[in-house]
Amino acid sequence: MAKRTNLILTGVLGSGKGTQAAVLLEKMKVPHLSTGDMLRAEVAKGSELGLQIKEVLQTGGLVSDDMVIEMVSARLDEPDCANGFILDGFPRTLEQAKRLDEVMKKKGLKIDLVVNMEVPEDVVMARILGRFSCAKCGAGYNDRFRKPKVEGVCDKCGSTEFTRRIDDNEESVKTRLKNYHEQTAPILPYYEAQGLLYNIDGTRPLDETRDEILQHLGL
Ligand code: AMP
Repeated sequence: MAKRTNLILTGVLGSGKGTQAAVLLEKMKVPHLSTGDMLRAEVAKGSELGLQIKEVLQTGGLVSDDMVIEMVSARLDEPDCANGFILDGFPRTLEQAKRLDEVMKKKGLKIDLVVNMEVPEDVVMARILGRFSCAKCGAGYNDRFRKPKVEGVCDKCGSTEFTRRIDDNEESVKTRLKNYHEQTAPILPYYEAQGLLYNIDGTRPLDETRDEILQHLGL
């Protein structure tokens, strides 16, 4: 049986969690669980709940701990999580981290590793304000660092439609950075105390970071 791996990717916004998750899961064969993606999917549905979430996302605030815990707990029960998962953007508060421990315990699971992607803030700003993605397949690009090979055409699927996140503007980024320092960074000592924290330089080439994480996981 394949080794089960329950991984958390954390780090400031723009540290490359989503991009790293995409390359890791090719090797790990586990799903990428991004609470940001789950919330954006709810917004796209245009439901009453989606409209409320949209307001929070636009201003760079955080949705309630109760809502995300419930969402993640339900998602962990789906069959594709049988060999583990990569959590991205969750937990984002100490309360979420503690409640995740309770949820995992009830399911007879535990976190194997918490990878903290470290990136300086000036790099974060340039990454976030320049990022866009293919509207069809979701492939990620950046105006400065990662343009499509042919301008206006997605490298992966050939689509010519691209999209930018509604919250990737300067005002929202400032709020999200403040939230990160005040609300999310406190999860680091929490995991460090459990011997689960692994800090990694998030400015290195994607493959190097991936290989270091895989090696640390014994994969
Ligand atoms: P992300 O895609 O991880 O940058 O998340 C986008 C936005 O979704 C965040 O700025 C928050 O508004 C919301 N969000 C995502 N994950 C969480 C979470 N674990 N707790 C609260 N809000 C979240």
